[in-house]
Amino acid sequence: MSAIAEVLSAVSHNPRGSDLPTCPVCADSMVAAEASAYLADNIISYLWTCDTCGYGFVTKHSIKRPVCN
Ligand SMILES: [Zn+2]
Repeated sequence: MSAIAEVLSAVSHNPRGSDLPTCPVCADSMVAAEASAYLADNIISYLWTCDTCGYGFVTKHSIKRPVCN
């Protein structure tokens, strides 16, 4: 019975599904990042590769978490 809870957890973990980047070459929408790397505190970079034209680029995202101290 834990499968449903796992799915809901996965969805809530990625709430910004509509905030995906688009390819700067052909403007195709990126579906999923090829890879991700943790750069520093609250900064993650994602590697994107366009399925249409093969262009690859990296985006950086700052993760703002509530600080509880
Ligand atoms: Zn492209």
